Amino acid sequence: PLVPVTVLGTGAMGSALARTFLDRGHAVTVWNRTESKAAPLLAAGAAWRPTPAEAAAASPLVVVCLLDQTAVDDVLAAVGGAIDRRVLVNLTSGSPAHARSAASRVTGWGGEYVDGGIMADPSDIGSDRARLSFSGSRTAYDTHEPTLRELGTAVYYGDDPGLAAVEFLAQVGAGYELLIGLLHTLRLVQTEGADVAAFAERFAQSLEDGYPQVVRAIGKAVRDGDYPPDLGPLSVQAPLMDDLVAHRRSLGVDDTRMTEVRELMNARVAAGHGDEGLAGVFELLRPEKGSA
Ligand code: NDP
Repeated sequence: PLVPVTVLGTGAMGSALARTFLDRGHAVTVWNRTESKAAPLLAAGAAWRPTPAEAAAASPLVVVCLLDQTAVDDVLAAVGGAIDRRVLVNLTSGSPAHARSAASRVTGWGGEYVDGGIMADPSDIGSDRARLSFSGSRTAYDTHEPTLRELGTAVYYGDDPGLAAVEFLAQVGAGYELLIGLLHTLRLVQTEGADVAAFAERFAQSLEDGYPQVVRAIGKAVRDGDYPPDLGPLSVQAPLMDDLVAHRRSLGVDDTRMTEVRELMNARVAAGHGDEGLAGVFELLRPEKGSA
């Protein structure tokens, strides 16, 4: 028998989650701060409850998908003890610290907590294209994994409820770090009078052809603390950085990141690691504060 599911929050993403559960035949209960936004789901067969506590009490599995952590805090306070003996899966994007504190509140009320992150468009929910990361109560995840897998490709990272948020922030963050570098480079390409779209097309091909191996090699090198020449030895890469920085400067294009790369490479070479790869720069990237 399919597990009845409650969805708290029927914005764009919450509605997509609730719609998928309805389509798969679950009994679905919903609550949203603004009732009118739930109307299409109610028309499709979902049940409405007027408060988060009543909605949470209606199902053994309670999925939360709200705008941000502040909204989650408000709604959790309204749920309170109604989560007793239920599982709360929070799919709102947030920080590891927030996930850990939400977990302790929910377990304090007698519920079990699973945190999650969604890497997908609402329109992809319900297909393999949607990627979801989960962490927190292992028994709760195991119990509800078949239901959560209906939403997309699901991966469980461990008992620490913060791990799903770590994965989410790291994936999204690595993407933005790459893309801001691309945008600065497109400024350079355009300033030189070349075709930016054609360049982007060729760079996309370079990413496909060469970068997966480099990314995996760097991951392994960092894990092992052993840095074979990846893009070549640093002693050969470092002098090239002068040209890259100078080219940007000559055009008035931002060189902040390229200068950082050059300084880190030069520091590694100066410390006697010129025969190693770029990955060795990792040794210089120590957290300055907070826990490692
Ligand atoms: P929406 O803006 O469409 O919906 C936000 C929801 O949060 C609404 O249900 C809204 O209620 C509710 N809400 C906001 N503040 C409060 C509050 N203080 N108290 C109670 N409810 C509140 O956002 P999405 O559905 O798109 O996003 C939801 C989550 O999904 C976010 O964490 C987002 O990062 C994540 N996500 C979204 C993606 C997307 O493409 N949309 C992609 C990947 C992740 P009301 O209707 O009353 O305003």
